[in-house]
Amino acid sequence: MACLNVAQKENLAAFCKAEQIHVLWDEEMKNHTSFKIGGPAKAVCVPKDREQLKKLVCFIRQQQLNVWYVGNGSNLLVSDEGLDGVVILLDAPFDGEIVVQNSILEAPAGKKLSAVCTAACTASLTGLEFAWGIPGSIGGAVYMNAGAYGGEMKDHLLWVEYLNRDGEVVRLEKEQLGLSYRHSCFMEKEYEGVCILRAAFLLEAKEKAAIQSEMDRVMAQRKEKQPLEYPSAGSTFKRPQGAFAAKLIDDCGLRGLTVGGAQVSTKHAGFVVNIGGATCQDVLDLTEKIKACVKEKTGYELELEVKVLP
Ligand SMILES: Cc1cc2nc3c(=O)[nH]c(=O)nc-3n(C[C@H](O)[C@H](O)[C@H](O)COP(=O)(O)OP(=O)(O)OC[C@H]3O[C@@H](n4cnc5c(N)ncnc54)[C@H](O)[C@@H]3O)c2cc1C
Repeated sequence: MACLNVAQKENLAAFCKAEQIHVLWDEEMKNHTSFKIGGPAKAVCVPKDREQLKKLVCFIRQQQLNVWYVGNGSNLLVSDEGLDGVVILLDAPFDGEIVVQNSILEAPAGKKLSAVCTAACTASLTGLEFAWGIPGSIGGAVYMNAGAYGGEMKDHLLWVEYLNRDGEVVRLEKEQLGLSYRHSCFMEKEYEGVCILRAAFLLEAKEKAAIQSEMDRVMAQRKEKQPLEYPSAGSTFKRPQGAFAAKLIDDCGLRGLTVGGAQVSTKHAGFVVNIGGATCQDVLDLTEKIKACVKEKTGYELELEVKVLP
């Protein structure tokens, strides 16, 4: 794929102007990630609906530009050099509202999990309480098969619609989504470059007060255990089979280990936090140190859960 040269930038600018697609030039990705890390993306485009998105995707393909989809940026570590291409930001107004019909809840990719959990609770539908407090969008949560406190997206997803590279909308049923621990088919080569548009969840009726009480319990646990006072991307590593990453890191005495502005949280060893001015390289150097030490002392190989761009 080509980088964004001057001519391509001019073409993209003309295209976005004609299609009225909002675009930010040389936009610092630290403004769009929960880690508050990331250099400038050549262009950040914010389509407001799927028609704009379709046209944009076709244009990007035709121009052979690099493209990255970003939801709420809460599981991303973006390079200090930035991204030489187009970031498509699926922001909240993208593609309409949450729709609840009987026990099925449909949400567009850009909706935050907080809005979706609130809508489910308001409709007296149970199932998504586990996701209360995960700071992602529906698109990112489906992509990651986000989960917590014994629940995951996989448990309640019914179908997902995505836009393929030819600009066509395709629907996948739950069993086609390849969902497993922090994995969906969208991470596989076959789906590279596609954009998740919308997801539907099959939920169950329950008394609103009971749903709210479970959401409160989950949020209280997050506040007690997680270093929410610092920028981070949540759990840095995946849970290795038969162990917990945080416990392994802790047992190796790595709590508080610091490289530049990146630190193994002193509150929760599973989180690398940005204690001030951390660079992507700081985080990468720190995670390499953690991996090496854990491997040497325990034999476990830790794998990043956080997605590194590019
Ligand atoms: C404080 C904190 C707590 C967290 N707690 C949890 C937790 O309990 N459980 C958990 O699972 N995660 C947790 N996370 C991580 C993160 O919130 C989740 O992984 C979330 O689902 C990511 O959603 P996002 O919209 O921010 O995705 P992003 O970070 O924007 O993107 C993540 C990946 O999804 C892709 N993507 C996003 N949207 C689309 C789309 N529409 N189409 C195609 N690809 C897309 C991106 O390209 C990227 O590869 C936590 C993070 C923080 C900061």
